[in-house]
Amino acid sequence: MNGKFIVDNQIVEEKILLFDDKIIDIVDDIVISDSDNVEIIDAKGAYVSAGFIDLHIHGSGGSDVMDATPQALEILSTTLPKTGTTSFLATTMTMSTQDIDNALQNIQNNAHSVTGAKIVGVHLEGPFINASKHGAQDKNYVQSPNFKLIEKYINEVKMITLAPEVEGAEDFVKQMTKSYPHIILSAGHSSASYEEAKQSFKWGVSHVTHLFNAMPGYHHREPGLVGAVFESDVTCDIIADLVHTHPSTLALTHKLKSDKLVLITDAMRAGCMKCGTYDLGGRKVEVSEGKALLEDGTLAGSVLKMNEAMANMVQHTSMTHVEVVNAVTKLPAQMIGVKKGELKKGYDADIVIFDENFSIIATIIDGKSKYKRM
Ligand SMILES: [Zn+2]
Repeated sequence: MNGKFIVDNQIVEEKILLFDDKIIDIVDDIVISDSDNVEIIDAKGAYVSAGFIDLHIHGSGGSDVMDATPQALEILSTTLPKTGTTSFLATTMTMSTQDIDNALQNIQNNAHSVTGAKIVGVHLEGPFINASKHGAQDKNYVQSPNFKLIEKYINEVKMITLAPEVEGAEDFVKQMTKSYPHIILSAGHSSASYEEAKQSFKWGVSHVTHLFNAMPGYHHREPGLVGAVFESDVTCDIIADLVHTHPSTLALTHKLKSDKLVLITDAMRAGCMKCGTYDLGGRKVEVSEGKALLEDGTLAGSVLKMNEAMANMVQHTSMTHVEVVNAVTKLPAQMIGVKKGELKKGYDADIVIFDENFSIIATIIDGKSKYKRM
């Protein structure tokens, strides 16, 4: 109660949100007797929205999905509620087939038993990428698109970032779209031309990974993947940390993509940690001043928190609180097909209470408190 509830693309006040492990209803008033065993949460005028969903996150709190241990998943899961994230796609890196298989096996066996933010699936970032646009991915492990790597994990995989211009991508995308339409095929780590990108959208590529990063920049005579995204209906995501993208680029992207824009963190092990030296997919990363860099200076994932990304968007673009919430709740939930992301009857009771500046006050997952600001 006493919240600014973000519901159906607007802010509603003077309502009461009822929930157990699911959202029960939003009502004007309720009569509670002493014998009812209910807890009342007073939001004290703060915003209340569905929990945030991160479609692209490798690690945080010192752990990484590629560590392939139950503890790593648990640390990641329990670190995220303080950033408002209540579910995420555990994101793998371009490493050896054995390393990726170990990570996927670990997620298949242990994802359901984490106690914080929910692991709602896997995002495979590579290895089906273009070696010339590998970014922080190890180009020695780039593979042609193939089913072998994923066939045992078809229920876990929800998203694959691939380069549509590489050999074998056309057949792979067409086959995946036909056989597994629930898996989002996202163009990224790619040097696709404008024509190649547009063609791939026809085959079934429906999203683009960290727009502008790990792809050629926009050129008026060679618009490339960026130009194709701006001109079509595909969704895309962006790392709004003001390091991977200039504030003006965020503003422009919001203007052009509007409700087709998702925010991701692409956070690595050092997310929610102190500055220092960390490992990302077997490569040394130096973290300082909000940047994670490989030894050669390449950006290596981020140390961004989801609530900071949201604050950055509201501060530097014309995005409203409601729009930025939708970009991390409703849209990603619809993309991966989960009954989350909205404060709606029957949906999972994943709820975040935050102030005007997106500082997280409380996070609730499946109706249970998982974080409370002191
Ligand atoms: Zn990534």
